[in-house]
Amino acid sequence: MASTPVLVARQLSKTVSAPEGELTLLEHIDLTVQGGDTLAITGPSGSGKSTLLGLLAGLDVPSGGDVRLAGEPFSGLDEDARAALRGRYCSFVFQAFHLVADLTALENVMLPLEIAGADRARDKARHWLARVGLGKRERHFPLQLSGGEQQRVALARAFAMEPALLFADEPTGSLDRANGDQVAEMLFDLNRDHGTALVLVTHDPALARHCGTHHELVEGRLSA
Ligand code: ADP
Ligand code: MG
Repeated sequence: MASTPVLVARQLSKTVSAPEGELTLLEHIDLTVQGGDTLAITGPSGSGKSTLLGLLAGLDVPSGGDVRLAGEPFSGLDEDARAALRGRYCSFVFQAFHLVADLTALENVMLPLEIAGADRARDKARHWLARVGLGKRERHFPLQLSGGEQQRVALARAFAMEPALLFADEPTGSLDRANGDQVAEMLFDLNRDHGTALVLVTHDPALARHCGTHHELVEGRLSA
């Protein structure tokens, strides 16, 4: 029996009103992501990649079409219910890391675990920081870490939640080549070890090449 895909988007569209009138950002977007799949979405700046991620994660509401996470539709849910559904299955990594500046590396990784009421949050956070090679940096604050190290803390924070699906928006976009490669390698290691599906928006051809599927966003539509 085929298992339920972790993410399905059907005929997604997004239209916004602009001073010049209605503007279609996205249309006819169909996507299916199975457990453990890796998908890259590339496209020029302004092509709607972040808008698409927002729709796929239920952060934003489409003008048409439908998104399902693990078979459960976002449509018809209010913001709180969408957040609850997203929280059950998804974690995020952002270009600008989005760590909490006045929490240590360890506390940053612990934060979502504590919010979710996980037991042994501190032990789990320690394990995940060590997993990304930052076991000796537990007490460092984000500003005391390099960009590459901050993104590794963000990876530990994301994977500690054991998500079925990780959304990453330009995860290597603020890093130099060496640090970007290290973060990319870690992403794919964690994908393999934990069966976490990856949906990556990226300008980085190396990152896109490593994904099982690669779509380009052109004029609001995904290439086959
Ligand atoms: P990307 O991530 O590919 O660089 P974005 O998804 O951030 O692109 O944005 C796509 C385009 O849509 C941009 O031109 C942006 O200015 C525009 N846009 C995004 N959201 C809105 C909105 N709510 N209203 C008007 N324009 C928007
Ligand atoms: Mg963007």
